[in-house]
Amino acid sequence: MSIVPGRAESIAPGVHRVLAPNASMMTGPGTNTWLLGDPPVAVLDPGPAVPAHIEAILTAAPHLEAIFVTHTHRDHSPAAQALKAITGARVIGRAPPRDGLQDQTFVADVEPVRDELFAVGALQLRAIETPGHASNHVCWLLEGERLLFSGDHILEGVTPVILVPDGDMSAYLAALARLKDYAPRAIAPGHGRVMGEPPKVIDALIAHRLAREHKVHAALAARERATLDELLVPVYADVPADRHRFARMTLEAHLIKLARDGRAAREGEHWRAA
Ligand SMILES: [Zn+2]
Repeated sequence: MSIVPGRAESIAPGVHRVLAPNASMMTGPGTNTWLLGDPPVAVLDPGPAVPAHIEAILTAAPHLEAIFVTHTHRDHSPAAQALKAITGARVIGRAPPRDGLQDQTFVADVEPVRDELFAVGALQLRAIETPGHASNHVCWLLEGERLLFSGDHILEGVTPVILVPDGDMSAYLAALARLKDYAPRAIAPGHGRVMGEPPKVIDALIAHRLAREHKVHAALAARERATLDELLVPVYADVPADRHRFARMTLEAHLIKLARDGRAAREGEHWRAA
């Protein structure tokens, strides 16, 4: 089923999606904005501050009380400011890091602590700490339905980028493994369609990451020493060139993890196997 921007569409009891009109290479079909409650009283990942999108959210949810965000990359949180100004809803999320890739307009009224529960009408939403894609990333679990709003921690059809220095591969993999303890029944990602069989999705993502890590280590071991640019082509030959800027940052995230694990070492601009 295709997703159309601007129209609220029912996903589960008390859950609607409004797709933001920001389709692109990095956002796929666009950002999924979720409306929660029956009638909707909360929005999760309000998306970019595009007037048509803000209007679509307010049309579907005229009595907003809460605005939740998974993280503060610019395709997820900027509409929070306008929605709060119009409705007075409280904003729940973690402060933006300063790495040049974040929505610095984001101001939280409440910063969730690990596993904190929030009431949304008759529903309950649990904050699950998931640093890695972004250091302030939080996944949200809708208790009852056990629907996991995964933000950019888990995406449909693509592997999330880990953008150093804010992104962290070790933290990302640890947070992925820990997610299974919450026994989600389905995953509602920040971009793409809702996915069933979360344990399978999570295991496949971990396996994909470790396969890439293996490739990085093999490319490193085959050379005396190498720069990021020298490793990029052999390691990411399967990724289109227009994505190499982000692949390069993710490659560095892999190398930092390998160094932490005692399997690589950095010497200025160069890396070598250890
Ligand atoms: Zn993101």
